[in-house]
Amino acid sequence: MRAAVVPAGGEDFEHVERPVPEPDADEVRVAVEACGICHSDAFVVDGGHPAVEYPRVPGHEVAGAVDAVGENVTQWTVGDRVGAGWHGGHCFTCEPCRRGNFLGCENGDITGLTFDGGYAEYTTVPSEALAAVPDDLSAVDAAPLLCAGVTTYNALRNADLQPGDLVAVQGIGGLGHLGVQYAHAAGYETVAVSRSPDKESLATDLGADHFVDASETDPAAALQALGGADAVLATAPSSEAIASVVGGIGADGSVIVVGVPGESVAVDAQHLIGTAGAVEGWGSGDARDSQDTLEFSSLRAVTPEVETFPLEDVEAAYDRMIENEARFRVVLEP
Ligand SMILES: [Zn+2]
Ligand SMILES: [Zn+2]
Repeated sequence: MRAAVVPAGGEDFEHVERPVPEPDADEVRVAVEACGICHSDAFVVDGGHPAVEYPRVPGHEVAGAVDAVGENVTQWTVGDRVGAGWHGGHCFTCEPCRRGNFLGCENGDITGLTFDGGYAEYTTVPSEALAAVPDDLSAVDAAPLLCAGVTTYNALRNADLQPGDLVAVQGIGGLGHLGVQYAHAAGYETVAVSRSPDKESLATDLGADHFVDASETDPAAALQALGGADAVLATAPSSEAIASVVGGIGADGSVIVVGVPGESVAVDAQHLIGTAGAVEGWGSGDARDSQDTLEFSSLRAVTPEVETFPLEDVEAAYDRMIENEARFRVVLEP
């Protein structure tokens, strides 16, 4: 099979031919039809993640079909449409696993980081790390939903929100353009906050009820003028941008950070005290969360905007993502 391999952190991709991998007893072999390129793939490409070993095939937004199953696998059969995200399996025996918190597993795997991922024609995945992909969702559309989708969908559905609540999505990019769609589909009064005024019509098309141009307007004041946000989903990886919306939350509101900024965030503590508000973080979800995301996306026609590339063009595709030029997610089709 063909695969794009990172030989060591900081080195260029190598295009290799290698044998199709055999699944272990508890694994499934997936014929990869699409694999999203995510900013977190930089942990593998640049190095710096303590758990990564090289050479490594990146890719944790894997969508395809079951091609073979290990002898212990009863849940999946050849031909099933499946996907795998960042959460690449868990041990079932550590303390968080015993409490059902598989995302908190102390021995958890990461797809495309602790084992080879989807920048290849085939990969093997622990069976508990797979989500079923609905029939009406293409592999190309499903792939980014397995990371960018589950992150935003799961963050919103685990927040203390009700239909009609004022929910802002800050940053209209790879995560944010999905966050706006989920917020709208969930019945929230949805505000798109962006420093790019040219994104207003897109945000409106995606379901935003309001658009705040943060390059011209103080977003905190704008959100207060709308009554104060019950939640702000902060997707732009900028500490300045995150700090700028804290003053926009209303009573019991929260800023939910899903985009990781390089620096610490300065927070207006007085406003947090006055609102009993919070700044909190959220990370993706486990395989069932991913499947919920895919099912809801199918139900409500939530789809990512993607640019597709063949595996041979992985360098150009990765550069589009890392230079922040893609609109909005980049997907490889091996
Ligand atoms: Zn990701
Ligand atoms: Zn565990």
